[in-house]
Amino acid sequence: VTAIRYGTIEDFPLAGLLPDAPRLETIDIALAVWMIRNDERTVLFDSGFFREQWFERFQITGFTRPDDAVRLAGVEPEEVTDIVISHAHWDHMGGIELFPEATIWIQEDEYAYYVGTAWQRDGRSGGIDPEDIRHLVDRNLGGQVRLVRGDDVEIMPRLVVRTGARHTFASQYLVVQGTPTVVLASDNAYLYTNLDERRAGSTFTPDDREANLEAIDTMLGIAGGLEHVVPGHDAEQFERFQQRTEGVAVIKPGRR
Ligand SMILES: [Zn+2]
Repeated sequence: VTAIRYGTIEDFPLAGLLPDAPRLETIDIALAVWMIRNDERTVLFDSGFFREQWFERFQITGFTRPDDAVRLAGVEPEEVTDIVISHAHWDHMGGIELFPEATIWIQEDEYAYYVGTAWQRDGRSGGIDPEDIRHLVDRNLGGQVRLVRGDDVEIMPRLVVRTGARHTFASQYLVVQGTPTVVLASDNAYLYTNLDERRAGSTFTPDDREANLEAIDTMLGIAGGLEHVVPGHDAEQFERFQQRTEGVAVIKPGRR
């Protein structure tokens, strides 16, 4: 299991990550995808982004297009067999087009909401790129999408998705079972601070904060502590885990 960094968002408002943070505080956050490999499959958890509009909206530095970032980790984009999508936001689902051979795994409720209801008058489509949705639908029409139904589903051997943290309508996080068991939180826990100080991140609605805190407890329980939970945007993961090459950190080494 590796974390692959593909850039940085500079001066991101901290209150966007920790709703109770002081308004004017900002931090630099890491942009990352995670890769899980064995002899049979090469799985990405999230896919990054590359579309132009987001470079205009955010101050992004050190950007490597996610397919090139994966190449730097020693894998050709065509070798990626599966992509598990934590949630439909631009910086997580925006790179699926770069991995044309991969099957996309997303919660059925997340798919339905962001293809449909999100764009109705009372919907919530913030952070969603319409181009990503069009491409996701195309992938589904081509038989390359697998819709996951609900919590605690083993989608591949020893890869279990969990829901309930409600970062988006039906966000999910990924459990890689083994010794140790690793939890890849994505934006269901943005930063080590969310885990360490038990602080909710940004949730679908403010009413979901309690569920987010419960999910944090569940993540820590599954992984047996903070050490093996990997938050979505904390640059510190690239210090806590040893980097094999610049921007590629080994979260769990292989057997060979
Ligand atoms: Zn994100």
